[in-house]
Formats: sequence, C-alpha cells, structure tokens
Amino acid sequence: MAERLSFDVLVVGSGASGLAAAVSAERAGARVGLVTKGALQSCNSAKAQGGIQAAFGDDDSPEQHAEDVWQSSHETADRSLVEILTGEAPDAIHWLEEHGVEFTRENGGYRLARCGGATRKRLLQVGDRTGHAITAGLRDAFTSSSGEAMPNSPLVGLEPAENGWVATCKRKNGDELVIEAGAVVLAARVEGDGVELSVSDEGPGFPPDFAEQAFDRFSRADEARSHGGSGLGLAIVDLITRAHGGRAEVRNREGGGAVVSLWLPTVAAEAKAVNPAAKLGAT
Ligand SMILES: Cc1cc2nc3c(=O)[nH]c(=O)nc-3n(C[C@H](O)[C@H](O)[C@H](O)COP(=O)(O)OP(=O)(O)OC[C@H]3O[C@@H](n4cnc5c(N)ncnc54)[C@H](O)[C@@H]3O)c2cc1C
Repeated sequence: MAERLSFDVLVVGSGASGLAAAVSAERAGARVGLVTKGALQSCNSAKAQGGIQAAFGDDDSPEQHAEDVWQSSHETADRSLVEILTGEAPDAIHWLEEHGVEFTRENGGYRLARCGGATRKRLLQVGDRTGHAITAGLRDAFTSSSGEAMPNSPLVGLEPAENGWVATCKRKNGDELVIEAGAVVLAARVEGDGVELSVSDEGPGFPPDFAEQAFDRFSRADEARSHGGSGLGLAIVDLITRAHGGRAEVRNREGGGAVVSLWLPTVAAEAKAVNPAAKLGAT
C-alpha cells in the first residue's frame, strides 16, 4: 500500500532553487516536504564553479546590474523581473552568508570578478566551489530544520486537488509515496513519451475564455494591469515549446490559481518527431 504524507508546501528538487524555497517556506512557518530524484546532494547547482552575481563594487549599483542583464538579453528580458533579481541580489548574498556560505574576500570586501556581459566586476565566488558551498549551506539548514527531506523519490505524477495538489513519487524499492500539499513550488513529471513541467500560482487564475487565445501574440489575461507586459511571454513559450516538438497549455486550478504546463518529448520521442523547426509554421 502507498505511504501517504501531507505538507503545506512540497518542493520538488534539491538544487539551489529548491533548497532556497524549502528553507524560506520552513522559516516562514510552513510544514515543508522536499522530494528529489536521487541523493539530496545530486543537482546541477553543486557543479557551478563560476560564481554568483550581485552589485557590491563601489562603481556598481543594482540599476547598472539590471542594465547589463537587460542588454545581455538583447532587450528581451522581463524588465520588472530583472529589476527584482538585481535589486534583491545583495540581500540574497547576505541571506546565504547567514546559512554558512563564506564568499571569498580580499581587502576588507568581497573578491569580485568580471564575467561575460557585465560592465563591472560583480561575480562573487567561494574559491572555485561556489555551487557546492551554496548547496551544502542550504542543505544543512533544511536537514536541521523541521522540514522533511525525501531523497530517491522522483515525482512521477501531479494532479490538482480540491485543497491544492496530490503528488505521486516512486521510492527506490518501487513503492509509491503519495503526498498532499497546499502548494507545489516546482513540478516535473514523466508524461507518456515526454516530461511535463507545470508552474502554478495561487492568484485569481485566467479569465474563463482566455485559454483559447493564451498563446496568441499580444494576448493578455488582464488588459487593465498597469505594470507593463506586452502579451508576448506565453506566445514565446509556446513557440519554443513547439520548436522542440512539445506543447503548452494553460488552465485554472480547482480552488483558485493558474497553471501553465509544458510537455516536451524525451530524446527518444523527439527522434521520432518530424523536423521540429517546421512546426514553427507561419510564426
Ligand atoms: C557544470 C556547470 C557549471 C555551472 N556554472 C554556473 C555558474 O558558475 N554560475 C551560475 O549562475 N550558474 C551555473 N550553472 C548553471 C546553474 O548550475 C543552474 O542554472 C542552477 O543550478 C539551476 O538550479 P536548479 O535548482 O533550478 O536546478 P538543479 O540544481 O539542476 O536541481 C534540480 C533538482 O531537481 C531534481 N529532479 C529532477 N527531476 C526530478 C523529479 N522528477 N522528481 C524529483 N526531483 C527531480 C534533481 O535531482 C535536482 O536535485 C552551471 C551548471 C553546470 C552544469
């Protein structure tokens, strides 16, 4: 019989993003579960050697950092998200330090290197093991908290439920683990010949008839919003997904909130697909 667990927040993945989300949710008072495919240490984040950027130089500022990211994206990035990223970067560094990450210092400050696309020196490092140090610090913080880590339990199913989500994971011995959670931070699942990625929120959801036009260019769910948005984001997501032989869909969650799902074929399935570039059609 499947083991059943329940959490306020379920985090999928033990990379830097999953661990940071899990630690933050736990510190905010949520009951947090974290499932991951392999060992808790297994992730790409731990392999990152280059470093992490934040504006600390005397000649630098979050605004200059945002400008560099904006230019590097050839002015295609979401400017409001870029400004959040660069504005919060210094605090994120301090937050990581509170979790034991010791960035390399020199002359009384951080040692800052310059990296591609940056007009100022703003790359912080922990020697040449930055990713390892960040994940080790966050992993220690989570495993010593009230949160529950479940390694070797890949997510294989995720369904919306009345009060959130029901996630199904497969233990190494083949047993199923069924987890009920109010929120799932990151989701990935195998679906047919491919992998489905879902991102959800707890906002007002999409208007009733929006799904049919969601991927049309310049189509916006909320025409009245005042903070910008060209209506191109979902169209670009759809274009890239289809170019890789996949498909995208939007829907509302039972009980509130929006879900955007992308299905992408695995390598074997992709090999069967007709020239993916041809699927771009007239766009
Ligand atoms: C060699 C290398 C060097 C890099 N250097 C840098 C650098 O210097 N600076 C920089 O900013 N970026 C660098 N990057 C990129 C950076 O590492 C990634 O952008 C970042 O780690 C992504 O973090 P993440 O938490 O989203 O994903 P990951 O760290 O990849 O974590 C994903 C997690 O999800 C788990 N998972 C996957 N599928 C499932 C499933 N079905 N069920 C449960 N769990 C699942 C995995 O096991 C893993 O724990 C580098 C990447 C590599 C590979």
